[in-house]
Amino acid sequence: MSSTVPRDVVVVGGGVAGLSAATFTARHGLDTLVVDSGESILRRNAHLENFPGFPAGVNARQLLDLLEEQATEAGAEHVTGTVERVTDTEDGFTVETDAGERYRSQYVVAATKNEVGYLDDVDGVDVIDRGKAFVDTDERGRTGVDGLYAAGRLAEKPHQAVVCAGHGAEVGVTILEDDDRPFYHDWVAPDGYFTDRGRDLPPGCEEVDDRERADREQQSLDVMRERFAEPHPDAQETHPSLEED
Ligand SMILES: Cc1cc2nc3c(=O)[nH]c(=O)nc-3n(C[C@H](O)[C@H](O)[C@H](O)COP(=O)(O)OP(=O)(O)OC[C@H]3O[C@@H](n4cnc5c(N)ncnc54)[C@H](O)[C@@H]3O)c2cc1C
Repeated sequence: MSSTVPRDVVVVGGGVAGLSAATFTARHGLDTLVVDSGESILRRNAHLENFPGFPAGVNARQLLDLLEEQATEAGAEHVTGTVERVTDTEDGFTVETDAGERYRSQYVVAATKNEVGYLDDVDGVDVIDRGKAFVDTDERGRTGVDGLYAAGRLAEKPHQAVVCAGHGAEVGVTILEDDDRPFYHDWVAPDGYFTDRGRDLPPGCEEVDDRERADREQQSLDVMRERFAEPHPDAQETHPSLEED
């Protein structure tokens, strides 16, 4: 899996923030890899009742699966692993895992809640210690290091899944802007919405006709029926200190 071919974006941490960031960068064509150790704090939730779009709540393990599926559908690659070290190089970053995998990348998104040890070798990261560690960023998730971003709880966002997911999306869009990619909005609009008004289709936007819209809706109905046909198989996780030996 190690590759000398540089990625555009490596996202460290595949919780709600990291997966949302990856969805946005991958949808806009950036070669995006998510490295995740599989321990989102959201896995401990008993029933998620304040994430928009789920009026009766949703199983949090199910939501994480859906977010991962969505990032993959957008074109991001997902590998299981723990990142041990990020190194700043002349043309980006090297990301190393505990399994000895090495990835090179132009951009890195740190989305690891309160885990910062793997950033020790990067000069210029301002770690804030409040008993738990956070990374200081500007309002768009930029750290003091060009190309390195922090998203979600790690960037001191409120400890809520939707806020962290939203911040991950914002960081993804910020990377597109900082990369000077032609980008307006990531929107899917009805056929003619821009072009029938004499406007070029803005970069990042797509127009779909009625038939395509209906096809996509049918596909989403099929997928969601299947994903929600049965209770999610994963057990709810708890705080490690409460686990029985
Ligand atoms: C018991 C409980 C119940 C909760 N209930 C709710 C609720 O009802 N509503 C709500 O809005 N919020 C709830 N939350 C809070 C919510 O889970 C978090 O705010 C949210 O998950 C933070 O998102 P994040 O992506 O920043 O971090 P996380 O979701 O924790 O994701 C971080 C990811 O980084 C990975 N990672 C860490 N270090 C490394 C590394 N070195 N290499 C690779 N990967 C790494 C982890 O495995 C993890 O997958 C609850 C939390 C708990 C503990």
